Amino acid sequence: MKILCILYDDPTNGMPKNYPLSELPKIEKYPDGMTLPSPKNKDFKPGELLGCVSGELGLRRFLEDAGHSLVVTSDKDGADCEADRELVDADIVISQPFFPYYLTRERIKSAPRLKMAITAGIGSDHVDLDAAIEHKIDVVEVTYCNSRSVAEHIVMMILSLVRDYHHQHYIVNSGGWNIADAVSRSYDVEGMHIGTVAAGRIGLDTLRKLKPFDVHLHYFDRHRLSPDIEKELNLTFHNTVESMLKVCDVITINCPLHPETENLFDDKMIAKMKNGAYIVNTARGKICNKDAIANALESGKLAGYAGDVWFPQPAPNDHIWRHMPNHGMTPHTSGTSLSAQARYAAGVREILECFFEGQPIRDEYLIVQDGALAGMGAHSYSKGSTTSGSEEAARFQK
Ligand code: NDP
Repeated sequence: MKILCILYDDPTNGMPKNYPLSELPKIEKYPDGMTLPSPKNKDFKPGELLGCVSGELGLRRFLEDAGHSLVVTSDKDGADCEADRELVDADIVISQPFFPYYLTRERIKSAPRLKMAITAGIGSDHVDLDAAIEHKIDVVEVTYCNSRSVAEHIVMMILSLVRDYHHQHYIVNSGGWNIADAVSRSYDVEGMHIGTVAAGRIGLDTLRKLKPFDVHLHYFDRHRLSPDIEKELNLTFHNTVESMLKVCDVITINCPLHPETENLFDDKMIAKMKNGAYIVNTARGKICNKDAIANALESGKLAGYAGDVWFPQPAPNDHIWRHMPNHGMTPHTSGTSLSAQARYAAGVREILECFFEGQPIRDEYLIVQDGALAGMGAHSYSKGSTTSGSEEAARFQK
């Protein structure tokens, strides 16, 4: 079989010769008891860069020894890109949300042999799920592999926005010492009301990690958490996003992108927020309207916005979020720490092993199977496509 793998570019100066840590901490299980990815074997050292082209997700030896061919590229956007050329006879395509190969309807149509799209990470919104359903292409992802990595990033971003870390760091780097400048937008989070849109794996872990900061915790989700968890975290449940926005100083967005959540935070929704609130969005860029966010930062309606997700990715060089005031954006990194890479590379290998051996793929990993939403997908997604506009990714210039 032919496996096409789209990964982000290598580091500018080549692959690292060494890494800050010689080994990763051992993690036995996820908090709800789900086991970590468990392939029969691994051909990589956890802690090394695996998500870039030369890292190859540690898959080459395994695939070639089994007689398959592997093509790895980062050339994924624009007319006649290498990924499009290779897709036409590919059986399996692997892509990461950080550097997504947007599997639009047109691309799916161009790939008559395609059987499976694997997301090396979580969030399969870069695949036109309707088209995948129609063409009987299975879509799978490595559920939980980086949920806790993202929750750590969210806590970091909430603290750095509210305390205004970025500005203070900039003052030091530029040789300054004006403390009044450095603290004129800096607050404590203690006592604030913080709410999450969705309390799935990331949302719930974020709530747990925030509890020791003595804040008031809120959530909105389609399904309610158990009374035990609500009690443990002293949570306030809201049955609409609007009801939560009215009372929260900080909102963190943790739902998947699907037609129900696309453009959820538009001008109208933001107008319902408290004045001077903060948003941290590590879910997907398209959940927030880009102009509405930039305008709200300009006017002061929002005191800050941070996140690592954009639309499209890579974000065009003139994307308005690169230049708006009081933002703390990073490129899409929260789920691709070296620690997370080791887990999702192992998860992809587990999925491929199951596929080649005709064994069932874990239910938790399934988004689409046999022409219908399945497993996790049936629980958390709605039908449709959120890939429109993705061709703009070709405007990014290195
Ligand atoms: P989970 O599936 O564990 O949680 C998703 C939650 O979103 C579920 O509780 C689901 O609710 C809820 N949800 C779905 N639709 C809605 C809606 N319309 N309104 C409110 N809640 C909704 O996934 P994770 O927490 O692991 O990941 C969530 C998302 O975060 C991913 O889909 C991905 O987009 C993003 N992500 C980003 C990463 C990054 O690197 N920045 C890495 C990993 C994920 P219910 O189940 O009750 O229906």
